[in-house]
Amino acid sequence: MTSKLCNKCGLSTSVYYRQYSGEYLCKKCFVLSIESKTSKTISKFSMIKHDDRVAVGVSGGKDSLALLFILKKIFEKKKRTGLVAVTIDEGIHGYRDESLDIVKEFCSKINVENRIFSYGDFFDLTMDQAIISRPSEKISSCSICGTFRRRALDLAAQDVGANVLATAHNLDDHLQSFLINLLSGDIERISWIHPTSIQYGSNSLKKIKPFIEIYEQEIVFYALQLDIPFQTETCPYANESIRSEIREFLNNLERTSSGIKYNLYASSLKVSSRLKSSNHMLKSTCILCNQDSSGDICSVCTNLKILKNH
Ligand SMILES: [Zn+2]
Ligand SMILES: [Zn+2]
Repeated sequence: MTSKLCNKCGLSTSVYYRQYSGEYLCKKCFVLSIESKTSKTISKFSMIKHDDRVAVGVSGGKDSLALLFILKKIFEKKKRTGLVAVTIDEGIHGYRDESLDIVKEFCSKINVENRIFSYGDFFDLTMDQAIISRPSEKISSCSICGTFRRRALDLAAQDVGANVLATAHNLDDHLQSFLINLLSGDIERISWIHPTSIQYGSNSLKKIKPFIEIYEQEIVFYALQLDIPFQTETCPYANESIRSEIREFLNNLERTSSGIKYNLYASSLKVSSRLKSSNHMLKSTCILCNQDSSGDICSVCTNLKILKNH
């Protein structure tokens, strides 16, 4: 902890040193900086329009609760309604219960509607069942869960009548996905990570990531400063070892060359938008579930087939 004065207001003692800008910030100025950066990202990529109804994917983790809190503030300032929190219950015994309570309590405190949807309702399969049914441990639990969660959030947003789905992916999440796709040769996916609002054909749902330009550690610090509660329990099936290694690697680089994450972010946008403009892959509709798909059968239906037939 430092006893330096805040560089922004010059009045209060700083509580945070922002390495990439060299600024010392007091609590108030730090909190404001995160909120105004989120607002700027929203305008920069035209994420939310005046009459949009926005569903926020809220898991109970620090990022999603902080995002809901900031969006609520922005909506209130503009005297707008149309914000609803959607929570997905994956059906992981003993893990999800804590966060469902945290989300419920937090939403009622800040007066935002909270709706809970489960894998069981949407797919007739819980994550606990999926883990038992997978034919081989080589099918990673995180990739099964990720595929289901993306679809569940789409369906939940449609169910609550939203045309925008906001998720709390931060700068670090974005960079990890970018590098994972590069490392696995999955170039196609890189064109999807661009923060420009994406409109999907059949359901017209716009997906936005208002935290995409904010470091994960700053969101944690923001949540701590404002006493935003969050789930501490980690998922019992988590096995994303490559993601954790890349996180460590980028954090180490950032420590010695601060700002390097922003450079990589800028590169990822350039690569992604070039791929997007040259991407002629036509999106089609899955013949089984009627949702958007890159082939005849979507990844959700493919997974369900493997897991249910086993
Ligand atoms: Zn200050
Ligand atoms: Zn399908």
